[in-house]
Amino acid sequence: MQAIAERYVHLVLAVGQHDAVYVDAYYGPPAWRDDAAAARVPLDVLLERGHGLRADLDAESAADADGQARLAFLRGQVRAVVARIEQLSGRRFSFDEESAALYDAVAPTHPESYFADTIAQLEALVPGNGALADRLDRFRQQFIVPAHRLGPVFDAAIAESRRQTRERIALPASERFEVEFVRDKPWGGYNWYQGGYRSVIQVNTDLPVHVDRVVDLAAHEGYPGHHLFNLLIEQRFVQERGWMEFTVYPLFSPESLIAEGTANFGIEVVFPGDARARFNRDVVMPLAGAPLALADDYDAVMLVFAQLSYAGNEAARAYLDGTIDRAAAVAWLMQYALMSQARAEQRTRFMDAYRSYVINYNLGQDIVRRYVEALGGTPERPDLRWQLFLALLQSPRLPSGLQ
Ligand SMILES: [Zn+2]
Repeated sequence: MQAIAERYVHLVLAVGQHDAVYVDAYYGPPAWRDDAAAARVPLDVLLERGHGLRADLDAESAADADGQARLAFLRGQVRAVVARIEQLSGRRFSFDEESAALYDAVAPTHPESYFADTIAQLEALVPGNGALADRLDRFRQQFIVPAHRLGPVFDAAIAESRRQTRERIALPASERFEVEFVRDKPWGGYNWYQGGYRSVIQVNTDLPVHVDRVVDLAAHEGYPGHHLFNLLIEQRFVQERGWMEFTVYPLFSPESLIAEGTANFGIEVVFPGDARARFNRDVVMPLAGAPLALADDYDAVMLVFAQLSYAGNEAARAYLDGTIDRAAAVAWLMQYALMSQARAEQRTRFMDAYRSYVINYNLGQDIVRRYVEALGGTPERPDLRWQLFLALLQSPRLPSGLQ
C-alpha cells in the first residue's frame, strides 16, 4: 500500500501544476514537489495515471481495520483526484454531480419557501423599521469588532478554545499558529497548515468582523478545528504510522468535507449550548466595546440567522448550473441569506474560485453532528461528545462512511 500511497502524493502534486489552489498543504519530501513542477505532466497523462491508481487500489486489500480504513480513504480521495483531472480537462459537471464526485456528498435541495419561516422569525426579532436586511445590518453594526481590537479579541477566543481542547487531549509541545489579518480574499478566514504542527491562520478584514465570528474563527481555524485536525493527522498518521498520503491535502477532495464539517461542528463542541453566548457576553463583547445590554437579543437573532446558511447552497447551485447569473445570485443571497450586498458579492467570488466547496461547511457540519449524536454524543453528554469528536479526527474517514 505504501507504494500506492506515494503514487497518490505524486499525482496530487502533479495536478497542482494545473490548478494553483489545489494543493492546500504539503509537508512531504520537498524534492517531490520540485519534481512535479519540473515535469509539468500534461492532464491526459495524469488522467491515465489516475485510472491506473484506481485499478490498483481496487485490487488491493487490507488485513486489519486500520488498513481497511486507510484503503477506503485512499479510494475515495483518488476518485476525487480523477474527477478533478477530468474537470480541468474540460468535462462539465452539474453542481450536485461535482459535489458527489469531489466531496462524496450531495447537499439537500430547499425551495424558497423553506427559508420563509426563518425570515418570518427574524422579522419579529430584529428591531427597527424598513426592509429586514437593512434592519439586520443596522442591528449587527453595533457588534462590529473595531479593527484595532481584532488582535486582543482573537487572542482571548483562541486562548479559551485552546485551553479547553488541551484539557481533552495532549498536544505536541511545539504546536502553535500565527494569526495574520489580510485583505482582498474570496474567503473570510483560512488555515494554511505548514507541517511540523504549525499553522498560519489568516483573517480577511475586507468586510467587518462581527462579534459572533470571533469564536467561529478561533474554533474553526484553530482549536478544535483545522489546526488541531491537521496536527493530529501529521502526528497520528504521518509520524506514527508513516502514511505518506496524509502529507498532501488536495483541496477539492472528500477530506475537505470532513475538515470543514469537523471545524464547524468543533465550535459547538468547544462552546456547547449557551457557553458560546456566555463567552461572547463575558469576554468578547467587553473587549470589542459592544453593547452588553443587547447581548441576549443579539444571541437570539444570530441563532435564527444561522438557519439561513443553506440559502447559500441554493444560490451556488443555481449560479454554477447557469440557471441564474451573478446579479441574480447576489439578489438571492441578499433576500434569502440576508447578506449585505458586499458580503453577497464576496460570496459569489468564493463560488467562482471554489464552486461546490460551499456544501462542505453546512452539510459537513450536519453530517458530523448527526454522526456524533447518533453515537450518543449529544450536548447533554459533553465528555462523550468530545471523545467521539476527537476519535473522528484521528481516524481516516469518508463522508459516505459517516452517513
Ligand atoms: Zn475551514
